[in-house]
Amino acid sequence: AERTLILVKPDGVERGLTGEVLRRVEAKGYTLVALELRTLDRETAARHYAEHKGKPFFEPLLEFITSGPLVAAVFEGQRVIEGFRSLAGATDPTVAAPGSIRGDLARDWGKKVIANIVHGSDSPESAAREIAIYFPGL
Ligand code: ATP
Repeated sequence: AERTLILVKPDGVERGLTGEVLRRVEAKGYTLVALELRTLDRETAARHYAEHKGKPFFEPLLEFITSGPLVAAVFEGQRVIEGFRSLAGATDPTVAAPGSIRGDLARDWGKKVIANIVHGSDSPESAAREIAIYFPGL
């Protein structure tokens, strides 16, 4: 079955939303296959976000994603990549649809980086690459 990498980013963990995020994904019917709480070092963060190197928000993004513990999870199920991105909502939480994780639980805090609670892989190729970063050997 298809797999995706999901992060509850440091803002979500700090705000106590880990259970709420995992609850929504499990309630949708996807299967949890791996779970870990960890704090990323700069190298691992840069590896995850390599595609954004050179963008104006790259440094703030690394600062943010390494600022505290995050929760990494792998979920499995038919079309889980697309399904989780729908659950997460649009990148910008101000306009993310109500009912989505970002639409219901995040807002603009006026920071240089968009703190939007969750990450989800955007393609099977990204999922394989990201799962290998967080759960090598899975
Ligand atoms: P994610 O990959 O986290 O699920 P996404 O695919 O919607 O979100 P990307 O374009 O991959 O977003 O950007 C990765 C992350 O970088 C975003 O989730 C957000 O935290 C941050 N980000 C993206 N665009 C901007 C921006 N223009 N300004 C500030 N931060 C941004």
